[in-house]
Amino acid sequence: MNCVKAQQMIRPYLDGVLSDRELEEFLDHVQNCRTCFGELEVYFSIYRTLNNVDEQGDYNYAKKLRVKLRQSREYLSVRQRNKVIKVGVILAAEVIIAASFYALFRMPGGYLDRHRTEIIPVVETERPAQTQGIRSVPANQTPQAQTKQT
Ligand SMILES: [Zn+2]
Repeated sequence: MNCVKAQQMIRPYLDGVLSDRELEEFLDHVQNCRTCFGELEVYFSIYRTLNNVDEQGDYNYAKKLRVKLRQSREYLSVRQRNKVIKVGVILAAEVIIAASFYALFRMPGGYLDRHRTEIIPVVETERPAQTQGIRSVPANQTPQAQTKQT
């Protein structure tokens, strides 16, 4: 981030409307650039005055700005930690869901195992009918079976 960009972000920073990424870049810049830090100090004191912030008799704006910057850093690290935790929770949830489906359908005693006897006969009665070019005719109604009945 260059100085022009950083100085354009001073007011959004004081208004608390920067995104996490912008905030991180902004903090990185102003904490390493004397010019922009000086600009920020000036804006900070003006901002506090215009917004009637109760200074409680302490007008050490430089100190208050350092506190604010440190709080911004802490805010960012909490946000990043929460993001890592959130990703971890989502991954864990996906693993649990996948394992549950596996247990439900594939494991011995699972859905497929319990319904195997009902599924396999359906598949096997259809297979001979398809090789003869006849579809979904039950085994006892094949042409041979009908000729025997008449
Ligand atoms: Zn700068």
